[in-house]
Amino acid sequence: MTSAPPAGSTPPGLSCAACRSPLRWPTDAPTSVSCPGCGFLYDFEGRFLRYAQKTLLFNRHRRQFLLNQVLNNNATIVYLSSPEGSLSLSSRADVARFRAYLERHAVRGRLLDIGCGLLERPGYLEFDDPEGFDFCGLDPMDDQQFFGWRVTGCAEMTPFTDAQFQTVVYATSLDHVCNLDHAARETARIVAPGGRVVVWMGDRSFGLLRRLRRRAGEIFRSLQKGYRTDRFVVEPDLTVLYRPPGAVDAFHSYHEDPRKVLRLMQRNGLRCVDLSHRNDDEVFLCFERPTAAGGER
Ligand SMILES: [Zn+2]
Repeated sequence: MTSAPPAGSTPPGLSCAACRSPLRWPTDAPTSVSCPGCGFLYDFEGRFLRYAQKTLLFNRHRRQFLLNQVLNNNATIVYLSSPEGSLSLSSRADVARFRAYLERHAVRGRLLDIGCGLLERPGYLEFDDPEGFDFCGLDPMDDQQFFGWRVTGCAEMTPFTDAQFQTVVYATSLDHVCNLDHAARETARIVAPGGRVVVWMGDRSFGLLRRLRRRAGEIFRSLQKGYRTDRFVVEPDLTVLYRPPGAVDAFHSYHEDPRKVLRLMQRNGLRCVDLSHRNDDEVFLCFERPTAAGGER
C-alpha cells in the first residue's frame, strides 16, 4: 500500500485543530510536526495525517466522549465480525442512490468525506465523472486505505483552514459524532462560500406515542428473554454489546432527526437547498453556504 499523494493534487490547507496556527502538509518523508503555536503533534506520512483527536475531544466534551468511545467500540466489534455489512459498499442500492444525489449536488473542487470509514473508496464516491474533484477523507478510525488525502481525526476539531472545501459529505456519519453542535459549527467553518454540505441520514424522530410503544415492547421483551434488552444487545453468535445509559441503541447517542439537523445547520449560517425523504433510512439533505453577497452563485 503506497502512501503517495494523489497525482496532480495539492494537499489541503492546514491550521492547528487546537489553536488554529497555520501548518503545512509535508508530502516527502514521514515526519512529525509540532504546532508552532501550542506544540500539539501532527504525524504526516505521504497523503496520511493523524493527530491526537481523542485528547482534544476528551478535554472538551468529556462525558460525551466517554459514551461515544463505548459506542465506537461496539461498532468496531460488529464491523470486525462482518465487514461485508459496511454501509458504504457500492453494490448496495441505497449507496448507489446517494452517489447519484451527491454527484448532482456536489460542487467541483475539494471534497471532504467526514466519516469516510475504512474502504479504499466508499461506493458513494465512485462518481461517473470525478474530473475536477480532489478527494479528502476524515475518520476517527486510523487507517491507510483511502484513495485521497486521509486524516485520522474528528469532525468537531479538524486541522483544516477556513472555507476551503467546495463540498463536505456526511454519509450515515453525522449521528456518530461526539458533539453534534460542535461538529456542525466546524463544518460551517471549513466549507467555502457557495460550497455544499451533503448529508445522508436516517429519520428516527418518531412521535411520543411510537416511542412509548417501543419502550413498552422493550419491557415485554426483557421479561420474556430474562435480561435487560435495553442494556444488552445479544448478537446471533452470542457476541454481547452493552448499551450504556444515554445511548439510544448500541451504536448511537442521538435519535437521528432531520428537522434537528436542519435547525442546527441553519443556525450555523447554512441554507437548505434540497431535502429528499425517500424512507426512514434514506433522508438526503443538501445545504449551501451563502456567498458573501448572500446572492446568486
Ligand atoms: Zn496549535
